[in-house]
Amino acid sequence: MKKKILVANRGEIALRVIRAIQELGYSAVAVYESPDNEGLHIRTADEAVWLGDGPRCDYLDIEKVIKAAQKTGAEAIHPGYGFLAENPDFAKACEDNGIIFIGPPASVVRSLGDKVMARKIMAEAGIPMVPGTPSLAPGEAGMNVAVEFCQKHGYPVMLKATAGGGGRGIRQIDNEQQLQTEIPIARAEARAAFNNDAVFIEKLVLNPKHIEVQIMADQAGTTIHLGSRDCSIQRRNQKLIEIAPSLIPDQELVDQICRTAVKAAKAAGYVNAGTVEFLVDDDHNFYFMEINTRIQVEHTVTEMVTGIDIVRTQIKLALGKKLAFAQDDVQIRGYAIEVRINAEDPQNNFMPEGGKKIAVYRSPGGHGVRLDGFAYQGFTIPEAYDSLLVKLTVHGFSWNETVDRLRRCLNNFVIIGPKTTIPFYLRVIDNQEFRRGDFNTAFLTIHDYLLEYEDVTSECDKLARLIAEIHYRKQNSYAI
Ligand code: ADP
Ligand code: ADP
Ligand code: MG
Repeated sequence: MKKKILVANRGEIALRVIRAIQELGYSAVAVYESPDNEGLHIRTADEAVWLGDGPRCDYLDIEKVIKAAQKTGAEAIHPGYGFLAENPDFAKACEDNGIIFIGPPASVVRSLGDKVMARKIMAEAGIPMVPGTPSLAPGEAGMNVAVEFCQKHGYPVMLKATAGGGGRGIRQIDNEQQLQTEIPIARAEARAAFNNDAVFIEKLVLNPKHIEVQIMADQAGTTIHLGSRDCSIQRRNQKLIEIAPSLIPDQELVDQICRTAVKAAKAAGYVNAGTVEFLVDDDHNFYFMEINTRIQVEHTVTEMVTGIDIVRTQIKLALGKKLAFAQDDVQIRGYAIEVRINAEDPQNNFMPEGGKKIAVYRSPGGHGVRLDGFAYQGFTIPEAYDSLLVKLTVHGFSWNETVDRLRRCLNNFVIIGPKTTIPFYLRVIDNQEFRRGDFNTAFLTIHDYLLEYEDVTSECDKLARLIAEIHYRKQNSYAI
């Protein structure tokens, strides 16, 4: 019988993983909740299991997902990103039920998912990092530690949720008064978002570049890296544009960061694919930030410049295969840029456009163009989930060629119905500092005019949108 692998996710990443499973000649099992009834992942997979009405609670229900694997006879589960991907209890439940979790061992997911624990492991291994506190004890004791740390190291500092992720639960603190007021707020937010109110403090790196390294490790103990990515273009600490490799001209520095990432992975006992994140300051110092124990949204840029299928490799490593290639086999060719095209209104504070129907969907193509999406013409975007519609990744020989290709693709992309972030990316691309590759995480704060989006839609597209919207309204008004 064909090997079966269950994909415990939805949207574009579910499709991405299903593709790799099917290319390997295995059978893909999808899971879904009711708001995803029209989802493409259900139709592309070989089988699908309905988990419940959701939203979100069923995708997050460890027991149900394990049952779905047992019922269909899946021997492995790929968790994608988000949902259960970094939940150590889920990885453990897979292990306990004899199901292969496509990721690192549960113990590694647990220790690295705790940012303070990860820092401790890395400090012991001699990995460079900014000074920081342990998780702050509740009440006055924790506050005193925080105040003392900030007096010693100076403001500004970063207050972070120990169990945080996705750019949430991170705030800059500029003075003691702010520290006093923000710690309780941060705790409450962390409890709501991560079911864990632990917070800690880290010295802030001023206007750093976010540089991360893709690593791959097999169960036999070989660990290699697939080069660097720059994810500095962020809004509210969330990545919007990702680039491979990093544009830092000092190649020796980049190599050193990549070697440090391998050392960090080894120190953590890492297995499978992961990402080691660093901050790099103006003086070329680099600091460990965290390790993400899963496939990342932006893995596509690394795949484009290395030619290596990371998800295929993830599956093979989880099934016990050794890495088929050595560090020296990994060659970086050209540049790749990925933009996250979200159904959001950049003119209205990036408000999600969930609930809208896609009246027209016309995607770009051509040399060096890759699309990872799940939306199609006629699809209504469920309101219950995140607003990522499609990732556009372009590959080019030089940085200039890659940016030119991205502009062409964004101009060719027509999505009518929901508003999208396409016009925002078109504005970013024409910024001179972006074109020079000269930016850090402060880019969108410095160039805040890019967020004050103007409607650059052509008259023709505006008319098409109007017609589509009228048509949509009409359709909506039919009585059954
Ligand atoms: P998450 O788990 O949400 O990804 P990270 O710890 O990776 O959180 O940080 C996300 C982003 O927040 C970074 O890419 C960076 O822009 C900013 N950031 C985090 N820590 C610091 C720091 N110490 N100094 C400056 N910026 C930081
Ligand atoms: P396959 O699944 O075809 O047997 P492997 O397990 O050998 O492939 O490798 C998994 C991924 O790594 C594939 O995307 C493949 O293209 C890539 N790869 C394999 N060998 C090399 C190599 N020598 N150099 C670079 N990439 C490689
Ligand atoms: Mg991070």
